Amino acid sequence: MKSENYKFKCIKCGYETEKETFFCPKCGGLMQIVYDDFKWIVNSNTPSIWRYRCMLPRSWKIITMNEGLTPIKRINGILSKLETNNPTGVYTDRASSLLLSLFNHNFIETIYEEDFTISLSHYARKAGVKLKVKVIPDQADPQDLIIIARLGSEILFTEKNDKYGLVYENPYTIEGLKTISYEIYETKPKVDKIYVPAQSGILVYAIAKGFQELKEIRNDFKEYEIIAVKLRYANLPDILNYSKYKIKISEVSSKDALESIIDLSKKGLNLKPLASVAYSMAKIESDGIAIITGKRRIYMSDAIKYTELRKDIINLFSDNKKRTAYEIWNDLGKYSLKGVYKSLIMMVNSGELCEDFMLKGQRKIKVYWKCND
Ligand SMILES: [Zn+2]
Repeated sequence: MKSENYKFKCIKCGYETEKETFFCPKCGGLMQIVYDDFKWIVNSNTPSIWRYRCMLPRSWKIITMNEGLTPIKRINGILSKLETNNPTGVYTDRASSLLLSLFNHNFIETIYEEDFTISLSHYARKAGVKLKVKVIPDQADPQDLIIIARLGSEILFTEKNDKYGLVYENPYTIEGLKTISYEIYETKPKVDKIYVPAQSGILVYAIAKGFQELKEIRNDFKEYEIIAVKLRYANLPDILNYSKYKIKISEVSSKDALESIIDLSKKGLNLKPLASVAYSMAKIESDGIAIITGKRRIYMSDAIKYTELRKDIINLFSDNKKRTAYEIWNDLGKYSLKGVYKSLIMMVNSGELCEDFMLKGQRKIKVYWKCND
């Protein structure tokens, strides 16, 4: 059955098949997608990863929350690509969007993985797909489980620690995540190095794959040095042992990572240690772009603090105009911008406000309005 323009190829041993396969039947290595005929065609009016649809596996539908096209901003002098700006606050939204667009089942079975499962739950809800999440009780963040359950996913407890159903490591995740490279290529920043946090190594591998695809077909492509940054004493991700792409490995101490978390929290970014390691390294080397992979979620206790602000926001929208967060903050005139942002996220999550993206010149801007109007 050959209906696609791509094959699955083992990253480890090179085994190829046209059949959808996540792990190699010969050696157990992770499979990746290779295209027969790869062309660079950008739908430049689309403010999400779907502007690269021609360079992704073909899907008959698109499940999107406008993931991707994240900004590159200078934070304390360090150029940072803010994956925190994705709809659920993490880089894996890029993968979730592609996965839910490709899968044609009424339900998906998966095993709990930090960040990935929450992102997937949001997208499953959006797609009307039932997500069944297997959870090993001792390995789950209880707050995560509450969010997953509230999003309508089913939680099944298990004691078996095996790869089950849809896992984060799969060829489509790589395809979703490689769009980060495409975005960097489109903005052409004047840097030589890209720093990427590495735990499983999938993200840095995907970014290297994206750049390699561009290198093969784009004459104006300027090569970057790709640096996987891990926490000292953490294991070297297996995929980096056999990756054919040039990926340099470096590490930062827990102290450096923690200092960066504190640094970044002062800028309104509430991160986990791993999400800040690329920033730590970029700061040490004072050069390049750091990928900031994701933020901590806002918990319900925060919600209570913002009751007053929410009321004011609702009043503001009685004129049914669409506004950016900045405009809302400016019109209200008496709150912090950070507080306004936080409230907007919660109000969108609770269905009080709707949001969408627009392109203003080259920039992706988010606008809000009162739903059901
Ligand atoms: Zn293999």
